[in-house]
Order: sequence, then structure tokens, then C-alpha cells
Amino acid sequence: MYKAIGYAAHTATTPLVPFNFERRELTPNDVQIEILYCGVCHSDIHQVRNEWGGSTFPMVPGHEIVGKVTGIGSAVSAFKIGDSVGVGCLVDACGDCPDCRDDLEQYCNGAVFTYNSYDRHTGGSNYGGYSNSIVVAQHFVLKVSDRLELAAVAPLLCAGITTYSPLMHWQVGNGDKVGVVGLGGLGHMAVKFAHALGAHVVLFTTTPGKADDAKRLGADEVVISKDPDAMAQHLASFDFILNTVAAPHNLDAYTALLKRDGTLCLVGVPEHPHPSPAVGNLIFKRRSIAGSLIGGLKETQDMLDFCAEHNITSDIEIIAIQQINEAYERVLRSDVKYRFVIDMASLV
Ligand code: NAP
Ligand code: ZN
Repeated sequence: MYKAIGYAAHTATTPLVPFNFERRELTPNDVQIEILYCGVCHSDIHQVRNEWGGSTFPMVPGHEIVGKVTGIGSAVSAFKIGDSVGVGCLVDACGDCPDCRDDLEQYCNGAVFTYNSYDRHTGGSNYGGYSNSIVVAQHFVLKVSDRLELAAVAPLLCAGITTYSPLMHWQVGNGDKVGVVGLGGLGHMAVKFAHALGAHVVLFTTTPGKADDAKRLGADEVVISKDPDAMAQHLASFDFILNTVAAPHNLDAYTALLKRDGTLCLVGVPEHPHPSPAVGNLIFKRRSIAGSLIGGLKETQDMLDFCAEHNITSDIEIIAIQQINEAYERVLRSDVKYRFVIDMASLV
């Protein structure tokens, strides 16, 4: 074990504070990474505040990690010291089930998430990216292009892949009419990706002041979701809608906007369930409500390569680690443009 520093929550109701802890030593299969930047995902807040249940403390959140390789185990050949790399939400999986064999490790029953989960090497809890260093098995380490700004790449590791994966799975492409609900960390990446894939993108927001940004990011139209007349203009017209909202709300307003056979895909994970959807809205046009979880390692690397090719990164506000508690409050107020990223140089 070696010493690491970070920020941790010690209970669900107290602020994050400085925290000293230990990381495992490199095994032959591991990569050791100096963390330079870590994005702040709404999932960090859900877990710190135990909104999904089962949180373990102390908790060092953070699963949008970029940094430099500082050490490699004897069996590591794909990385060398000094490489720019990323780590997202996954750090382990069984490697042998149908999901793992299909490169969909996120659906493996043995998937291990980056924090608030379990380290089979130490038998204890694992700790995430709000820290100066991490050790991760090579299969779960991503290559990051030095052509992109590293800090703005960090959110791609969760917000990026979580929105890219469903757009790929439902084969969104040229000319499709695609809705994105919520312009936050996930939503702003969904707008960029759907636009880059050639879709006609409509952003649904509760915050009228975000309309200009949405258009700059790639939305063709912006609809204020609380305006029933504006919503009614889009009835039965969408091929696909990606809903990123972190709070329970009426899904019928969106299923009604789908064409026959259209899909409303949920990626937001609210603390309490959405009200039950109207079945009539679904059966009369064979519409679907679906869900999607982050993405596997292969697809995450594809997404990072797509971003390097199309010069796509996240729009970020860089903060010092000491501002993390205030940043959480701002995320909860939908007051972030559009992802906070912690500069780990502030962690001393
Ligand atoms: P975020 O930055 O807070 O963005 C959520 C956006 O939803 C807000 O910016 C806001 O956009 C809108 N919104 C907020 N409250 C709302 C309400 N009451 N009604 C309607 N819209 C509301 O959060 P995020 O980091 O993008 O994460 C979003 C959700 O995805 C979280 O639940 C997170 O845990 C989940 N998540 C899921 C996965 C997955 O694999 N499925 C991965 C990562 C995160 P407007 O101001 O534009 O309305
Ligand atoms: Zn996340």
C-alpha cells in the first residue's frame, strides 16, 4: 500500500473534507496514474448524499479521471510512463460473462465501479478520482489524445460515454430528429454528439437562459419544457429522445413526442421514481421507454477517438478541490456551464 491524499465525505450529510488514505501497490496487471483533473458528475452527489442507498463511508468520489501514467506492472504493454490516460466509472469486471465477452462490461454482474464499490485486491472499499493518484487494472485504462485539452477531456469519461453509447445503440444518424432533455453535464455532451452525427437536435430545458448556449453547442431548436404549447408543436415527431434529468418528472410529456417506434431513453437516475407512464402513449404508436448505463471499455475508447477526430470536448468550469462543496450546490441549482472539473494541482 502507498499513501494518497484526496477529499472524502464521511457521512451523507456532512461536507467533503481533506482525507489521507492508502492505494494498493501495483500488481503486474496494473497502471498507476497521477490524477491531473477529475470531473464532477451528478452521480457523485447522489452517492455522497446516499440518494441511491447503500453508500459506504468514507467516500472519495470521482469517476471522470484524466492524468499521466507514473508506473506500470510487469505485464502491462499498452501503456508507458508519461502517457496521457483516462479512467471512467468502471475499474473491474468478471471478464468472462456474455456481457464482458460482448465488450459491455458495464452490464456484467461483477462490474466494479470506481468508488463506493469494492477492491478485490485489498478486500476493502475503493476510492475515486478526487485524489492525487490511482491504481487501475490496464483493461480499464483509456488512451487519451494529447491533441485535446486534458481538463476538458475528463467529463468524456462519464458524461461523454453515457450519452454516446445510447446514440450508437439506437443508431442515431443523419437526418434523425433527436431530443435531449436537460442541458447539464450529460445533456450538453448529448447535444454535441447528436449534432456531430448529423441529427436534427432539439434541446428541452427548464432554464430559458440556456437557449443561446444550446444553439452554440449544436442544438437546432430549443424548447422550454414547461411551455405546453411549445411542446405540442413537436407531437409524434421524434425518432429518439435522450432524457438526462436527475429528478423525477412526468415522462408522458416526452413519450407523446415520439414517432411510431420511437424510443425515449432514460440515463438520469433520480432518487425517487418517475410517475408511472401512460400506457396508451406507448401502445398506440409502439413507442419504447428504455434505459442505458455508461458504456463498455471498447466503446469508451471509440468515443474518445471520435472526440479527438471531431475536436469534441466538454465545456468546463475548472475549480480547486476546496470549492467542491459549493460546486455541488451549484450543480443542484442547474448552475454549471456545463461541467465542473477539479484541478488536482489544488490538492496540497
Ligand atoms: P446535471 O449536470 O445536474 O444535469 C441535469 C440537468 O437536468 C440540469 O442541468 C437541468 O437542465 C435538468 N434538470 C434539473 N432538475 C430538473 C427538474 N426538476 N426537472 C427537469 N429538468 C431538470 O447532471 P448530470 O451530471 O448531467 O447527470 C444527470 C443524471 O444522469 C444524474 O441522475 C446522474 O446520476 C445520471 N447519470 C447516469 C449515468 C448512466 O450511466 N445512466 C451516468 C452518469 C450520470 P436544464 O436547466 O436544461 O433543465
Ligand atoms: Zn458520472
